[in-house]
Amino acid sequence: MKTISLLGATGSIGVQTLDIIRKHPDSFQLAAFSAGKNEQAAQNIIHEFEPALVSVMEKEAAERLQLQFPSVRILYGKEGLEAAATIAEADTLVNAVIGSVGLEPTLKAIKAKKNIAIANKETLVTAGHIVTAAAQQAGVHLLPVDSEHSAIFQSLQGEQEKNISRLILTASGGSFRDKQREELESVTVEETLNHPNWSMGAKITVDSATMMNKGLEVIEAHWLFDLPYEQIDVILHRESIIHSMVEFHDRSVMAQLGSPDMRVPIQYALTWPDRLPLPDTTRLNLAQIGRLHFQEIDFDRYRMLHLAYTAGRTGGTMPAVMNAANEEAVAAFLDRKISFLQIEEIVERTMEKHTPVQSPELEAVLEADIEARATVRSLLS
Ligand code: MG
Repeated sequence: MKTISLLGATGSIGVQTLDIIRKHPDSFQLAAFSAGKNEQAAQNIIHEFEPALVSVMEKEAAERLQLQFPSVRILYGKEGLEAAATIAEADTLVNAVIGSVGLEPTLKAIKAKKNIAIANKETLVTAGHIVTAAAQQAGVHLLPVDSEHSAIFQSLQGEQEKNISRLILTASGGSFRDKQREELESVTVEETLNHPNWSMGAKITVDSATMMNKGLEVIEAHWLFDLPYEQIDVILHRESIIHSMVEFHDRSVMAQLGSPDMRVPIQYALTWPDRLPLPDTTRLNLAQIGRLHFQEIDFDRYRMLHLAYTAGRTGGTMPAVMNAANEEAVAAFLDRKISFLQIEEIVERTMEKHTPVQSPELEAVLEADIEARATVRSLLS
């Protein structure tokens, strides 16, 4: 029996994590969760899973829930998030919050000796050197939930990292993969949110269309698998059937395949090195699919991916700045304040204005994040 604390329970990954816990009541138990502003969803989760602790975003909501559920500890805000992340009963933290808010609770959970199933990319992107060092020191595992990193992780079972020649991350190309760059000038929020293969939250769907999502994943892979950027490649693969690959020195390539269903990598992160059935997922039928397509990445077409490689290679505080600028720019796009192509323009200009600090402490990372958001606000006004 694994006891889980789930940060970001009402988001896309959170909901699917709950589905896995629901399907395997003998294997998993929910000790704590955090939710954003969706109070009704929080109520439903408390009713169904009876956790010991719940954290919501706002004080007023916490007070209302506390009246309804007197036997559950209800907290709010940053303190609540950290209490949920470190609750004594849990052995595993699933970090599925959106954005850099996931970083500090994850570090606290690592120090409290929890294994981390990591769906929150920003945690590794902004402070990969701190998080991986802390995990090593505490002797806990960082288990990837992202489908690409799970595919690499699965392909590496029984292998030795010293034999890796390169990682090949697959990218679906997002909502606009069939559009030329000029056609992106006038795309709408609605078109952007219409992803061909995956059903995900709004922020990550925009990131998928700009390819920033893949950029964040490249940086994430760099930290998770301890490889230089020269050994991390991206290839376009329309169907999202091959979730990623590992090439070894002998040119042998291991890949992990499956129908696109995020519950598979989420569940693997929770059962590793074991597996559990997932009967209602679609069985892969290659004969029916017939063909798989691959294409080289055009870095002029997908400038955000180029920016992410640059940020990763620059290192220090630069990835945190890139990430914060992207979060702010995507929010502005979703608020219809800027156009689709202005997202990358804002990220690029914010990076240009930043002087990176190498090997930053956590405080410097958080400062760089705040500084980048201020830069975006001044660019927007
Ligand atoms: Mg992914």
